Amino acid sequence: MIQLESLTFDNSYSQLPDHFFQRINPTPLANPFLIGFNPDVAGVLGLDPCKVDPKALAHYFGGAGQLPGAEPLAMKYTGHQFGVYNPDLGDGRGVLLGEVVNSQGERWDLHLKGAGKTAFSRFGDGRAVLRSSIREYLVSEAMHGLGIPTTRALSLVGSEEMVMRDGMMEPCAALLRVSQCHIRFGHFEYFYYSRQHESLKQLADYCVARYFPQYEREEQPYLAMFEEVVNRSANLVAHWQGYGFVHAVLNTDNMSLIGESFDYGPYSFLDRYKPNLISNHNDHQGRYAFSQQPAIIHWNLSCLAQALLPLIEKESLIKVLDQYPEIYTGAELMVFRKRLGLQIQREEDSLLISTLLSLFTQQEVDMNRFFRALASFDGSESSISGLAELLLYPEQLKPWIDQYAERLTYEVASAPIRRAQMLAVNPAYILRNYMAEEAIRDATDGDFSTVHDLLMLLRKPMELRPDFARYTEEPPEWAGGICLTCSS
Ligand code: AMP
Ligand code: MG
Repeated sequence: MIQLESLTFDNSYSQLPDHFFQRINPTPLANPFLIGFNPDVAGVLGLDPCKVDPKALAHYFGGAGQLPGAEPLAMKYTGHQFGVYNPDLGDGRGVLLGEVVNSQGERWDLHLKGAGKTAFSRFGDGRAVLRSSIREYLVSEAMHGLGIPTTRALSLVGSEEMVMRDGMMEPCAALLRVSQCHIRFGHFEYFYYSRQHESLKQLADYCVARYFPQYEREEQPYLAMFEEVVNRSANLVAHWQGYGFVHAVLNTDNMSLIGESFDYGPYSFLDRYKPNLISNHNDHQGRYAFSQQPAIIHWNLSCLAQALLPLIEKESLIKVLDQYPEIYTGAELMVFRKRLGLQIQREEDSLLISTLLSLFTQQEVDMNRFFRALASFDGSESSISGLAELLLYPEQLKPWIDQYAERLTYEVASAPIRRAQMLAVNPAYILRNYMAEEAIRDATDGDFSTVHDLLMLLRKPMELRPDFARYTEEPPEWAGGICLTCSS
């Protein structure tokens, strides 16, 4: 276990040619102070959480100093935003500080989000506001707690610096994002659309070597990589659909090459199941509505395929892309089978699940509360009424619950084992927008205890904690009126 200054940097991205990025140091935040420090992520990096000095964290990850070995840079990428290609993107408010290699040889990117202006800031101020930084910190831990691939954060640093958002002055913050990958689909699109095909190949070689070394010896390593990206992305969105998560800004520059949930903005977890829910006030067409996500990920993968055309035969790319619907359907089935406590696979499972989703839609059911309650289903009247009360019309539950009870008779595992398995995948706590709003409201008043409480709950969302029972209940009335935008 080591201290902050002893982290071992070995920066591979900065070895790539100069036009892949701009070398730039973060702009220090005014009067930085530590709000959050993630002992789990510290452990991943090999840091001793007890030995890390909060002042040092605020200093380095508030942008004021550079850790020995860091080589900060802003990456160039482009991407399709709301279906339209934008050639002017890149790290406009984030800086890759460098790559840390831990004692197991794992390579982790440290990316400071909110680090000030870069060559790619366009009209922006290069900052992230406290509100959006808290939301990203909370949801990345929540995703991790649910077992869904995600970037995480080592620290959240606050500041007295203020910037304008949506007509109001707001405090800035900086989040130290930690992930093995900051390569987006948009990195490939940049080199493709600017016709730099040699650089495109260099990027692909870099990605195969770093992220998919198992394919280096394949006959077609780029195709194998693409196939893996399709698989991972389909699996990721299947989990989002399975847990009611709306990303809300699925532009290709927000798509991670390794299939992690990435670049959080005005996301939501569904309170009530509404397939058409749009979680971004500015998304007038509903392009990124909840139900659209599987199709949008397919579309985003086709953008990546397009960008890979100089490296891979078109027919091969299309063949892989065409596998997506089947991979997605299989992955979705797996997620729901687990949530339902079904260990064996039977043909009627698809129908059981689609009937349940129709019921959720018609009855505006809170799916996460439903699955948690379903773990207690044992055929008794009380277990059925605990579920039925989550429906607008409780009597409508019967046909489905009968179907489910019948299906359970084919399972081999005993009821207590099934219950334990279901409690391990069906969270008691889900990050609802009202909870994030409460944490932000308290933080704005200088009280960060709600942020910390939520982090503690969401890291282990399956563990019941009696002090926080209210978070397992129906969200308050005002939760429905929360308005989120790209600055969220
Ligand atoms: P996002 O909406 O966070 O996915 O960002 C889309 C693009 O806008 C990226 O190129 C960002 O770097 C850039 N961007 C977002 N916010 C800012 C900001 N405050 N200052 C400069 N660039 C920004
Ligand atoms: Mg982004």
